Amino acid sequence: MVRTGRADGGRRPGPAGEPESLTNIALSLLRTYWRYEAFRPGQEPVVLASAVGRDVLALLATGTGKSACYQIPGLIRGGATLVISPLTALIEDQVAGLLGRGIPAIGLVGQVAPIMYQSVLGLGRAAKPFFLFVAPERLKSRAFLRLLSRLDVRLLVADEAHCVSEWGLSFRPAYRSIGAFRRAVLPHVPLLALTATATPRVQRDMVRSLALHRPVRISGSANRPNLVYSVFDEPEPLARLVRVLGAVPGAAVVYDSTRRGVERWAERLALAGYTVAKYHGGMRPGERERSQRSWMRANVRIMVATNAFGMGIDKPDVRVVAHVGMPESLAAYYQEAGRGGRDGRPAHAVLIRTDEAEKDRKRLAGEGRRARRAMKTVFRYARTTTCRREWLVRHFGDMRSMSCGMCDNCTGRHEPYVPLGSQRRERRTGRSGSVGRESRAGREGRTGREGNAGREGNRPWQEPVWIQERRALWEHERS
Ligand SMILES: [Zn+2]
Repeated sequence: MVRTGRADGGRRPGPAGEPESLTNIALSLLRTYWRYEAFRPGQEPVVLASAVGRDVLALLATGTGKSACYQIPGLIRGGATLVISPLTALIEDQVAGLLGRGIPAIGLVGQVAPIMYQSVLGLGRAAKPFFLFVAPERLKSRAFLRLLSRLDVRLLVADEAHCVSEWGLSFRPAYRSIGAFRRAVLPHVPLLALTATATPRVQRDMVRSLALHRPVRISGSANRPNLVYSVFDEPEPLARLVRVLGAVPGAAVVYDSTRRGVERWAERLALAGYTVAKYHGGMRPGERERSQRSWMRANVRIMVATNAFGMGIDKPDVRVVAHVGMPESLAAYYQEAGRGGRDGRPAHAVLIRTDEAEKDRKRLAGEGRRARRAMKTVFRYARTTTCRREWLVRHFGDMRSMSCGMCDNCTGRHEPYVPLGSQRRERRTGRSGSVGRESRAGREGRTGREGNAGREGNRPWQEPVWIQERRALWEHERS
């Protein structure tokens, strides 16, 4: 029985049998299963286009409810929705989420016992919509292809679809086989490609490689309005970090680019009195998992990690994402910083630039042209004197001009750091060490910082004005 590939165009009767508009069906599903009254920006067009059987390329910022975007059309189209996802952790998350809503779902990960295939077939026979998750490598398995031939797949989803492009983050060669798989096995099934982060070049790659047919392109802006971006050019990054953490309560992630750096920062922050967990590729899996769990459960406040940490982790209430190492690309920065404020409340994306961090990044980038170019965009971001939000969203193809009024450049509050207890000595010695840095920053157009620094030096510490102001702004907007 090969029913694979039947697409019914989405014109199905409503739950009560009478014809109903697709929008209403989608909304009632959203209310029933997600308990939201309305779609978030960008969700509705993705759901509708995908439900009627169009190929869709959707760029939705993290925190905009990406999973509802494929799950609702999956429910509308019925049959099986096959979701290709890069990570076991992501798959487990999504399956748990669906099961929690009472929607049948199953993930085939690792070594799959025959009984799992039987369970999938059982779901298929139940004639209810269900979701089947696999990693892209599974598409080549014969047993899996046999299974598919006995299922009624009506929607194909490529999650984290930027993995298809070598120009993007986390390139995954197996993603390249999705296009051929689809042509050979599910030629008439619509494909929905989802991602949070893709430059225009990566988008072109996704369309070509996934063989999207006249795709509907939907891009929620890359803008995350509740993230406040700041960059500090910093001679003493620990003191700066401690000040930021002191001013912004709540869960935090601190990213560094090397394992050694993570170890060192975890130690420093613990010594400064914070509860800290750490995460990097050099730790044993069990150790990493324990670490992650204690942070997710808020047993510790701060996660210090390399970029190995974060994909598939959905902690809504992260208030600070601080980088003490330079990220490998602006896309990586955007994705890592985007782990803050998924609950929609204000969160701070803070990049603390030091010469040492830049040196580390240069060393890690090596001589590769692509890596160096990606690195340089981050360096330029750190040095820009215009709105940082505008800079970031432009990088992802949203060319609107804006001045967000919140980032350090928009508010003009750079609030340079003066180490406590060393103010007297600094005045005497003429701020040795940081003078060079400030002057260099001045040459690059950040004037006025040195003057500020002098004034700041005479005052006892208090919550930085930029944080007070932005908090006030947010309280005002929320009320
Ligand atoms: Zn701005």
